[in-house]
Amino acid sequence: MTKRSVEIVVSPREPHFVGDGFRVHNFIPSGYRLDMQRMNPFIMLDYNSKFYFDPSDTPRGVGVHPHRGFETVTIAYKGKVEHHDSSGGGGVIGEGDVQWMTAASGVLHKEFHEKEWSKTGGEFQMVQLWVNLPAKDKMSKPKYQALENSKINRYKSEDLKTEIEIIAGEYKGIKGSASTFTPLHLYNVKMTKYAKTEMNLPKNFNTALLVIEGSITINGTEKVDTNHFALMANDGESFTIDANENAVYLVLSGEPINEPIAAHGPFVMNTRQELVQAFEDFNQGRFGTLEE
Ligand code: MN
Repeated sequence: MTKRSVEIVVSPREPHFVGDGFRVHNFIPSGYRLDMQRMNPFIMLDYNSKFYFDPSDTPRGVGVHPHRGFETVTIAYKGKVEHHDSSGGGGVIGEGDVQWMTAASGVLHKEFHEKEWSKTGGEFQMVQLWVNLPAKDKMSKPKYQALENSKINRYKSEDLKTEIEIIAGEYKGIKGSASTFTPLHLYNVKMTKYAKTEMNLPKNFNTALLVIEGSITINGTEKVDTNHFALMANDGESFTIDANENAVYLVLSGEPINEPIAAHGPFVMNTRQELVQAFEDFNQGRFGTLEE
């Protein structure tokens, strides 16, 4: 098994607000090396690093907006998000939970801090990831996978120092909880100080780690601190991770979808014509209706 090296460690960019409820650092597609193709099928990653929100009687968030052509994956580390969509669906994503929403042919939805949480306020920390769909599935039916933390499949190392929540894909033969359209792995890893673990991921799978808490060292030499993102080169399969202190990090690894990407705002298609169609369908109300 050849060793996979770190290509670059990316520092968090200046944060910006999405609506008034998500203060995020964008890691993908931030230009430079991390455009929409480099981490394909992961085409967007916004990370709300730990941020304190004051109590508010009016929940903060982002109002009604559409999506088409991909999936949105929301991973809540701190705080709670409430969502509603045009099909009448809705729910709360609590701490540790993951929501895997297949927007596919199109949804209209809104995402806000959960009402009661909002009244108390507190620390908020969350990841939103967009996973691309292959052309043949872009116009399939929308669906949700609500993954409650307690129901996410997990691996525990023998020494109990490493716990891996397998959100999707598999780890050492344990299957992930979410079903996906293309082969990919998504893990939330928790390690105690001085724990060591190894990852073996196919060389051609685009792979990266986002450190949520603490600090880790990859391959014994590359230190990655909190809120930093390590892009792995496609030069091998296996790499090691040492926890310098108690640490939590997200591992993304997926087989690239070798198709053109035409993206604008909330639509990610293959051609410009399909984007024009998406805007037209949205303007004609074909995504349904949802109250603000
Ligand atoms: Mn959205």
